[in-house]
Amino acid sequence: MSTFRGAIKRLNCDLKISTIFFDLDNTLIATRKADAKACSKVADLLHREHGFSRELANETATNYLTAFRRCPDNPDVALAQWRSQLWQDVLPGTHKHLASELYGRWLEWRYRYLALPVEVQTMLQTLRLQYLLGIITNGPTAAQWEKIDRLALNKYFDCILVSSDLPWAKPDRNIFYAACHYLGVPPGQCVMIGDKLETDIQGGIEANLGATVWLPLPTEQRIIGDRTMQDVPEHVRPDAIVDSVLKLPAMLPPSTSFRGRRPAEAEVGDWEQKTTRNRAAQYNRILPEIPDLYSTYSSSSNDCSQHSNGSNSSNNSS
Ligand SMILES: [Mg+2]
Repeated sequence: MSTFRGAIKRLNCDLKISTIFFDLDNTLIATRKADAKACSKVADLLHREHGFSRELANETATNYLTAFRRCPDNPDVALAQWRSQLWQDVLPGTHKHLASELYGRWLEWRYRYLALPVEVQTMLQTLRLQYLLGIITNGPTAAQWEKIDRLALNKYFDCILVSSDLPWAKPDRNIFYAACHYLGVPPGQCVMIGDKLETDIQGGIEANLGATVWLPLPTEQRIIGDRTMQDVPEHVRPDAIVDSVLKLPAMLPPSTSFRGRRPAEAEVGDWEQKTTRNRAAQYNRILPEIPDLYSTYSSSSNDCSQHSNGSNSSNNSS
């Protein structure tokens, strides 16, 4: 595995960190890889059981993957209906009747490959004894909640925010402030880890989080080669880079959350989970407080923050 020369191996020990925010896709779960592997299984099925040539089978599955990635969700119809339609669109005329069956098989394989590895489950359980944990994910409501539900991610997190449930998406600082607000922690006590510099890292920096950690995609890790941290533009420059989410715990400073201070008393079950699920109810509850988010947090930079506030003051999503 190539390394990023000059990457910081451990975050500043003087940081006061109580909370860790995870990006979902390609950070906690290997979405791109799992979707591609599931499509490859469908291609095998088309070739083996439905008389497709290997070439046509691969082309059909690849076309589905492209269409799915372009538009994984259509809010006007149910997920199953939308994705079956995508299969129908890419199947040749003689085989369009297979669309629903292929969608079912693809979904089954998808979640088999997306499942959290045991080591990641253990990492989250261990981290949660010390820190508050959150997910901040960009994406359409139904598609993101399907992943969260099917992978049973609820049980590991104190806070789960899906951008389409809210008026903002990463890198808008307000989605980070909303997560901080939900958990009652200042931004300077939070670490954000994610795979996208322009959303996870830039947003974390602009929100003045305590630290940001970049987990490049495997393809990017191969390209990175001999580049150094100084080669990354300052507005998206993370505090640390890891090649696996499992490397995160070793670089964290001791927790300052109530869990870290009183681990024996910190029963996970005592803490009410905050999510943007059922957005009508949740949204109405959070909405009156939204105008306060920026003024509350923009002046509360943590003394230990490594970031200067070089961002503009726009509250709009980009
Ligand atoms: Mg991601």
